[in-house]
Amino acid sequence: EILSDQIAAGEVVERPASVVKELVENAVDAGSDRIDILLEEAGLKSIRVIDNGQGINSDEVQIAFRRHATSKISSREDLFKVATLGFRGEALPSIASIADVVLTTSTGSGVGQKVHYRGGDLVDQNETSIRQGTDVLVTDLFFNTPARLKYLKSVQTELSKITDIVNRIALSYPDISFSLNHDGRELLRTTGRGDLLQVISNIYGVQNARKMEHIQGQNVDFEVEGYISLPELTRASRNYISVLLNGRYIKNYAISKAIISGYGSKLMVGRYPMAVINIKMDPLLVDVNVHPTKQEVRISQEPSLTNLISKSIYDQLAQENL
Ligand code: ADP
Ligand code: MG
Repeated sequence: EILSDQIAAGEVVERPASVVKELVENAVDAGSDRIDILLEEAGLKSIRVIDNGQGINSDEVQIAFRRHATSKISSREDLFKVATLGFRGEALPSIASIADVVLTTSTGSGVGQKVHYRGGDLVDQNETSIRQGTDVLVTDLFFNTPARLKYLKSVQTELSKITDIVNRIALSYPDISFSLNHDGRELLRTTGRGDLLQVISNIYGVQNARKMEHIQGQNVDFEVEGYISLPELTRASRNYISVLLNGRYIKNYAISKAIISGYGSKLMVGRYPMAVINIKMDPLLVDVNVHPTKQEVRISQEPSLTNLISKSIYDQLAQENL
């Protein structure tokens, strides 16, 4: 059991950023409207995620650490809808199999629970009192998988992978207030007031947010909405393009390309726009089940989507004479 958890961990947990992603997604799934992320040494020393979500029932805390024991799929039909971010029930057991995990949780009624796992073993479980929500502390990541440990990059690199993920999740959920703190320094705080442009401003700065244009478009299959930078505001990498599909950030080369091509010849060679594009579509036309980390997705009718995106951007820039 611990071995198979470790094998699953190899798929799900590549680096500290993967732990952050899984914990924060769980906090989102729990219906939190406030999520605080605290790191030491880019998560190599510790990762802590505190939420104010629904918490875990006392009698379900240990079950949450068993593989495929997700609470989020109750029927085969659900598999095709996947409204929640997590649906495989692999993250917690995987992380607990290769680290030290202390999870404290309360549903707000009755007494809370505190469990401690290390290397897949339950070390300790106690009753505790905390307010409603869940607090997960991960330390000693990869202590028993030296190969993984060796593969990690510098603190700076690991931290940039974490901020990248947290930024994208924050952009996906303007209604949730996020904070990210690294070695005592606050790197990000969003208000949770539901305004995407405000989140863009929190992440990329007020000056940049002022140089974003709102775009919108729809056809029979898709609805797109978001913000794109004016052609004067570009970046040297594609990293400032975020694509969200039904509230989940995804990687899809064709969509990034469509965004860029919407600018026509307005972009200098080697320069890329900043963009946050939300796509809404029938979940039945998405296949999110391609990879365990679920970032790579396949979309049917993809050309109809990429055309819509390019056209929405092109039209907006043309309309503003930009
Ligand atoms: P999945 O998210 O795929 O269901 P996980 O291993 O990430 O699987 O989590 C296992 C279960 O633990 C979840 O289904 C959920 O019931 C519970 N859980 C984990 N994190 C939280 C949290 N922050 N708040 C409430 N419940 C949680
Ligand atoms: Mg999960």
